[in-house]
Order: sequence, then structure tokens, then C-alpha cells
Amino acid sequence: MARNLFWFRQDLRLEDNVGLWHATQHNEECVALVIISPEQWKHHHDAPSKIFFYLRQLQEIQEDLKHLNIPLIIKTIQSWSNVPKYITSLCKKLEIEDIYANVELATNEKHRDDQVKEALSKYKKNIHLFEDRTLFPTQSIRNKSGEAYKVFTAFKKTCYERLSISIPRAYPSPSKQKSIVIKDIENESLNDLISQFEYDTSNSAFKIEVGEKTAQDKLKDFVKSKMNNYDQTRDIPNTDGTSQLSPYLNIGIISVRQCLEEVLKDNDYIFSIQSKGQQTWIDELLWREFYQHVMVDFPHICKHLPFKKEMQKIQWRNSEEDLKKWQTGQTGIPIVDAGMRQLQQTGWMHNRVRMICAMFLSKNLLIDWRLGEKWFMQHLLDGDLAANNGGWQWSASTGTDAVPYFRIFNPVTQSQRFDPQGEYIRTWVPELKQLDHKQIHAPKEHIENYPRPIVDLKSSRARALAAFKNI
Ligand SMILES: Cc1cc2nc3c(=O)[nH]c(=O)nc-3n(C[C@H](O)[C@H](O)[C@H](O)COP(=O)(O)OP(=O)(O)OC[C@H]3O[C@@H](n4cnc5c(N)ncnc54)[C@H](O)[C@@H]3O)c2cc1C
Repeated sequence: MARNLFWFRQDLRLEDNVGLWHATQHNEECVALVIISPEQWKHHHDAPSKIFFYLRQLQEIQEDLKHLNIPLIIKTIQSWSNVPKYITSLCKKLEIEDIYANVELATNEKHRDDQVKEALSKYKKNIHLFEDRTLFPTQSIRNKSGEAYKVFTAFKKTCYERLSISIPRAYPSPSKQKSIVIKDIENESLNDLISQFEYDTSNSAFKIEVGEKTAQDKLKDFVKSKMNNYDQTRDIPNTDGTSQLSPYLNIGIISVRQCLEEVLKDNDYIFSIQSKGQQTWIDELLWREFYQHVMVDFPHICKHLPFKKEMQKIQWRNSEEDLKKWQTGQTGIPIVDAGMRQLQQTGWMHNRVRMICAMFLSKNLLIDWRLGEKWFMQHLLDGDLAANNGGWQWSASTGTDAVPYFRIFNPVTQSQRFDPQGEYIRTWVPELKQLDHKQIHAPKEHIENYPRPIVDLKSSRARALAAFKNI
């Protein structure tokens, strides 16, 4: 009787889960495992709301797994250095035949898996790892010289060529296993972990709905009623023009293959572009893909280093005070403050505003982008090392295919262009509610309880240009 172990990570779904599908193919016995690592979460600066979301989704998974006769073991292990020992002893106790999991792409995770592999090999056991997080296996999209792409447009072109040959399809549902009772194995209670959660969960970031069905419904609704206008609405922060699927994609409640399938299902899963909106959305999925691939090919970005190593030389300003004002939405630049407050209150920020806030910190305030990257990670429900790092390094002009250092967004002009009526600002900065659509982007007079701008946009721009020009 073969008994397999499936180890959940950032792939909290049953449908189209490559590793889980493989683990359940023998229709025999399967046990699932998830390792909770609070120390690791701290090390990665994961937002409490994201951790809470993860734990609540695990509750769903645990229930859903019961229908497949797969028990879920929950184990807290603070440090990953203790994981190999735990896995080997669990495999011995449960008489596990094979271990299955989906690859995690960041360096610490890879190192952990190498150590698990080595420990298991002593007992002649193997861990089967599958690529599940991206449309194409990492390191498989190469230029003609066989090298990794550093520029998105060229990467995208190759992806389009690959898609026109065949679409990566979603895997079928896992099959029901033989019933199994596991004894004498310590198992923690998710209810206890959730009820003892050490953070205040009253904020709306903690209320996001979990569940594969929720994510699927959101996807279907977006594709049906919003996607075709996405090219027009995606940059307007006050409209509900984007899918808001990022928290679900990030912890794997939904897969990128499922997203692409939904987009192409009315076209018999043949890759052909039907509208500008559809193309723009696929391009965004490919930006996600690009940053995941970049992280594997250029792992130094996981170690707090700029993609362009010469950018290490930039002399960042050290200003705790300005950093704090940026973090708390008190810069006196309304669009920046609106974005930073939206982030704190909801765990999410609109992409256009993420770019504006990131550029304001790294250029106008000339504060190290890594401090902004950390703050975003500490608050984002969708915090993802590859996408967050990619977005920050793009904005700070230190990354792959980054914005040229001399193209500095003027936050006021951006605000006038993308929030012309000031509705987004009014939602998040109520102190400015009474101002009209001309005044609201850059109030001329002092407004009660609202600060004056902490920097002059023109001179701070010149300061940034000088700092970057020297490199
Ligand atoms: C400074 C900065 C930090 C960011 N940090 C993150 C992060 O931690 N996690 C994260 O998922 N995204 C991040 N992004 C990218 C982007 O802002 C979000 O993915 C997007 O706002 C999520 O909203 P949505 O799901 O409605 O996206 P949609 O517009 O509906 O796009 C669909 C999906 O495509 C992917 N995507 C879209 N835009 C990008 C992009 N520019 N880069 C990578 N993937 C993209 C996301 O998975 C998204 O869910 C960051 C961008 C910037 C500029």
C-alpha cells in the first residue's frame, strides 16, 4: 500500500495543484502537511493580515481535504533549519513512500528544500518537486543565446510565441484516496492558531474572504464584465477596474493557469487576442511571470541587492522623520497619502498608486527603496517577494527593465491625470474632502489637520537626478 505525503506551501488550493495531483495519482493513501513558521514570516516581513488570510484559507483546505480522505497535519516549526529532521521523522512514523510538493522560487526556500532532500536521501526517500507557480517552468524562457531575459518586452514576445503553440492547461481535480486514520502524530488546531492570533484583526485587511470558490467567482466576474475595458480602467485608482486577485494568486488560492484558461475558454483555449483589454490583462499576468523568472535567474535580488549592482553606490538619504511621514500618509502630497492610507487600512493599494508612492519615496525623498519594499511587505495582503521587489526596483530605477532614472513621476501631475475628480483622494484623505477637483491635488492653502508638503517637488527632483547621474 503506497502512502504519499503532500506538503502545502504557497499553493493553498485543491484544483489545478500540480504537486497534489501527482501525489494522488495512485489512488491509495495520502497525508497532507503544512508547516507554520512564524520566525520565517518575521524574517520575510510578511503582513499580519496576509498570515491571517493564509491560516483562514488553511481551514477551508482542511475541510475540503476531508472529502478526499486526506488528513492535514499542521505543525509549527519556528526555524527552517529544523524542518529536515521533522520531515524525516514524520515520514518514518507514517511509513511514507514518497513526498510531493510544489517548488518555491526564492533562495531561502530552495535552500530549505535542498536540506530536506539531503536528509531524506539518507533514508532512500525522495521529495518530488513540481513547478506550479508560473505558466512556464522557470529558466525555460530564453533568448537566442540561451540566456535569461532582462527586458520585459522581449520576455513577453517569447511567451506569446510559446502560448500561440500551446496553452499551459490546468490540472484535473485530485482524486479521492483510500480512507486513512493517522495515530500518535502531534497535530495542531487551526482554530487555536487563529483565536490566539497576536494581532488586532479589526481592520478590513483581515476580513478578506477566503476559499477557492470565492477566487474563481472573482475571476469569472472580472473576465465577464471588466476585462474588455481593463486597458481603459486599470489606471484609475477610484474605479474597480482591476481583478483584485493578487492576494489569491499570491498564496495560491487560484493559479495563473486557471486565470489564463478563463480568459481563453470562449475561444476553445486557443491563444488569440480578442480585445485590447484582454491583451493588457494577459500582459499583466506576464509581468508577474517575468518577475518570478527573474528571481530564479538573478537570485541576488533576494538578498537585498539591487538588480543593477552598480546602483549600490547611490547615496540614499537617512531621514527617519520623512520615512515615518511617508509610511503614515502624512507627506502633504495628497495622492501619496491616499495610497499609503489605503494600504494601511485595507492591505491593498492600486498599482498606479503603488508606482507613485514608490517613486516618491525613492526619488523625491531619496530614501532607500529597500525601506519602502519592507514597509509594503509588512502591510500588503498580496506581498510577494518577486513582484514587490520587481515593482520597487522598477520605480527606483535599480532593477531589470526599470524606468530610466531621469523619468521621475510628478505625483501631482499623476494625480490630476489618473484621479481627475479627486475621488480617490477624498476616499482616503477625508481632511481634503471639501476641496474642488482643481485644488485637491496640491492644496495651495493650509488645510486644518493636513500637513504642508514635506518636500518641494522641483528641487527634490533635481536632487534625485544629481544622485543618480553620478553613478
Ligand atoms: C512598488 C510596487 C510593489 C508591488 N508589490 C506587489 C506585491 O507584493 N505582490 C503583487 O502581487 N503585486 C505587486 N505589485 C504589482 C501590482 O501592483 C499588483 O499585482 C496589482 O496591483 C494587484 O492588483 P490586481 O490583482 O487587481 O491586479 P490586476 O491588474 O487585475 O492584474 C492581474 C494580476 O497580474 C499580476 N500583476 C499585475 N500587475 C503586476 C505587476 N506590475 N507586477 C507583477 N505582477 C503584476 C498580479 O498577480 C495581479 O493579480 C507591486 C507593484 C509596485 C509598483
